[in-house]
Amino acid sequence: MHEASLVRTLLHKVSDLLTEHQGDCVETITVELGPLSGVEPLLVQSAFEQLAPQSPVAGAQLVINEVALGAKCRQCHVDFEVQRFKFLCPTCGSNDVQVVRGDEFRLLSITIKQSLTDQARV
Ligand SMILES: [Zn+2]
Repeated sequence: MHEASLVRTLLHKVSDLLTEHQGDCVETITVELGPLSGVEPLLVQSAFEQLAPQSPVAGAQLVINEVALGAKCRQCHVDFEVQRFKFLCPTCGSNDVQVVRGDEFRLLSITIKQSLTDQARV
């Protein structure tokens, strides 16, 4: 499953960040997901629920930010949001547009919880 390997990579990355920041645990993991990423949010969520408990970030919550599809017109260079996959420039009506946002699946941010002893030491 495509989503499972993405989530596995994500968990590795987050575990590394946790170690790097000497945190106690991860509270939330926020990812950005575009409609053209080929990644299904529901499958990501279920893969996460399956894989996270066996990882160092067990107990973390996954927040999926679905990003809108964005495009740029090659004719008048306006940047616009694509509604319902209608690739037409709202300004000049051209269909010569280029997708500039919406194909991403990436880690946006994580919230790390530091234990009290750690904070006292700093
Ligand atoms: Zn245009």
